[in-house]
Amino acid sequence: MKGKLIVISGPSGVGKGTIVKKLLKIGGYSLSVSCTTRAPRDGEKEGVSYFFVSSDKFSDMIKNGGFLEYSNHFGNYYGTPREFVEKKLETGDVILEIEVNGALQVKQSYPDALLIMILPPNAEELRARLKKRGSESDDKIDERIKRTEYEISKSSYYDYTVVNDDLASAVKEIDGIIKQSK
Ligand code: 5GP
Repeated sequence: MKGKLIVISGPSGVGKGTIVKKLLKIGGYSLSVSCTTRAPRDGEKEGVSYFFVSSDKFSDMIKNGGFLEYSNHFGNYYGTPREFVEKKLETGDVILEIEVNGALQVKQSYPDALLIMILPPNAEELRARLKKRGSESDDKIDERIKRTEYEISKSSYYDYTVVNDDLASAVKEIDGIIKQSK
């Protein structure tokens, strides 16, 4: 294994996706593509955003040890395909953008993995933003707020926490952490 596994997590709305895109632009990193049982959203591409699979296929992959980690998130399954990532690791560092339960599984199987949690500058504001997002029922919003609190409560298990106050600084800090860890 040539590269390092880099796990990036953080509550919904914290800007993980944007940070990961910027890291990929810097170069030297590749991104894992997860399998999921959730339906594609508008604009999502098979094999790029996710590998969209049926529940049966996902179960088979679990049975065959096909996942490096997997988790159920809001009723859908998400998992990191083992072979796909192991191949990418032969050529360099691989970023997994996954939720906390999966991240902790990765740390157990790969103690050398680097776990980075992205936090909002102000947790209250993030909750308020989730509340304002309209369209969803109060139950759904409460569920998301609880999830945010849960994710933040697990940050002590991560190797580093980075506050996304300013995007460029957060990206620079994460790139620095990764380079320093080698
Ligand atoms: P979304 O449905 O919004 O794309 O993703 C929902 C959550 O699932 C996000 O927190 C994302 O980081 C997480 N996720 C995406 N892929 C994986 C995966 O392979 N494993 C785990 N454990 N979580 C994932």
